[in-house]
Amino acid sequence: MLEISGREVLIQELTEPLVKNEGLTQVEGFKEVNGQLQCSRCGTSDRKKRQVAPCTCGQDCYYCINCLQMGKIKRCSTLYTAKEQNQFTSLTAPILTWKGELSKQQKEASMAIIETIHLGGERLIWAVAGAGKTEMIFKGIELALQAKKRVCIASPRVDVCLELAPRLKSAFQSVPLAILYGGSDEPYRYTQLVIATTHQLLRFKQAFDVLIIDEIDAFPFDIDRSLQYAAKKAKKEKGSLIFLSATPSKDMQRAIQQKKLAVTMLPARYHGYPLPEPQLIWSGDWQKKINRQKATGVFFAYLKKMLKQKRRFLVFLPNIVLMQKLAVQIKIRFPETLFTTVYAEDPQRKEKIIQMRQEKYDFLLTTTILERGVTFKNIDVFVLGAEDRTFTESVLVQIAGRAGRHKDFPNGAVLFFYYGQTRALKGAVRQIKKMNRLATERGLVKKC
Ligand SMILES: [Zn+2]
Ligand SMILES: [Zn+2]
Repeated sequence: MLEISGREVLIQELTEPLVKNEGLTQVEGFKEVNGQLQCSRCGTSDRKKRQVAPCTCGQDCYYCINCLQMGKIKRCSTLYTAKEQNQFTSLTAPILTWKGELSKQQKEASMAIIETIHLGGERLIWAVAGAGKTEMIFKGIELALQAKKRVCIASPRVDVCLELAPRLKSAFQSVPLAILYGGSDEPYRYTQLVIATTHQLLRFKQAFDVLIIDEIDAFPFDIDRSLQYAAKKAKKEKGSLIFLSATPSKDMQRAIQQKKLAVTMLPARYHGYPLPEPQLIWSGDWQKKINRQKATGVFFAYLKKMLKQKRRFLVFLPNIVLMQKLAVQIKIRFPETLFTTVYAEDPQRKEKIIQMRQEKYDFLLTTTILERGVTFKNIDVFVLGAEDRTFTESVLVQIAGRAGRHKDFPNGAVLFFYYGQTRALKGAVRQIKKMNRLATERGLVKKC
C-alpha cells in the first residue's frame, strides 16, 4: 500500500481502505517521553496545548491543540506508518528538461548541493534575493531522482510552494509531482517528487532521502518548534537536509560560525548587478500625522515624486489599521491614482498581485505579506514606519530584495522611512552592503 509509505497518518486521512500487513506499524496519538506526554504527530508536550474533552472512546480524553488544524490527534487516536519503500514508477529520460544556464556562483552552489545529497548531512545555501536559488537545486534533484531517492521541496509559505510548483513541473516535465498544502483540492498521491508546506511534513515519517526547505527563516517555521520537529521526522535518518535562505536566523548564523552547519554563500544576483542599497529617510512622527488625518510630510512628497515619474512601487506598512488610514489620505490627496491594499487574510490577495503585475495599479499598500516569494519586474519599494517591531532585520532585507530583480531593471529604489532608528534597520543596511562587498570581492558584480 504505497499511499502510506513514508507517512504517519490517521485512518480517516487515507483514500484507500487500510491493509494491515507486516510493514505497517501503529502508534498511539500521545506517547510518554521523559515522563511527559507528547503528541505523536507534532512532538508538542506543552500542557497548555492539550484540551480535555468528552470523547466517543468513553474515557477522559484529550487532544492536541497545536496541530489541530491538520485534524484532531486524541489520546485514543492511532497513527499508522509504513516504511518508505522507494517504489517509484520508472522515469523517462531526460529527467531534467530545464535548458537554462547557471551563473558562476550558481554552478558552485549546485555542486555543493549535489555533494550534500550524495553524502547526506545538512547545508545552508545563503543566497541573496534574486540569486536564482531554484535553478541551482535542479541538477541535484535530477541526480537524486535517478538514484531512486525520494525528494521533497518544502516551504513554510504556501505562496512559495505555489510559485515553485509550475517551475518544477516545467523543469521535470515527465516526473509525477504531488503538491501538498492545506486547502488543496487534490487528494494525496504517492510520488517520488513532492512539494509541500512545512505543515504537511507532519504527515510524513522517514520518507525523504532529500529534503530541501526553501525560505527556512519565514514565519511560522522560524518560531514553531513543531515544524522543525516535523522536518526532522519527515527526513530519513541518513538523508540530506538542505536549507535555502536569503536571511538566515541568528541561530543559524551562529551555527555557521561555530562550524556546526555547512554553508554556501551567494552574495550576487543572477544578473550580476549589485543589490539596491536602502536610503534611510527620517519621516518625523508619521503615525501622528496619519491619525490626525494630516497628509503632509516627507512621505507624501516622495509619493508625489514617484507618481510623477510614473514609477510603480510597493508601500509596506506595519499593520492593517495604519494601512487603511493611509489609504484614505492617499485617496483624498491623489484622487486619480490607481492603487489598492493587500494583507494576509485578504480574499482577493492573489488577484490583486496578478493585477499589479499587469500594471493595473500604480502601487500597492501592503503589510509584510509581500516581503518574499512575490516578484514584480520593475518596482521600487517603500517602507513607512521602518522602526516598527514588525520590521525585523530579515524582513527589511527581504523587502529590499523585491527591487531590481529583473536584468532589464536592476536599479529599483529602496526607501526606508523611519521615525527612530532601530538595530534591525541598521543591521539590514549593513547586511545588504556586506553582500555587495562580498560579491565585488569575488568578481561577481557588473558596474551599473
Ligand atoms: Zn478518546
Ligand atoms: Zn500535535
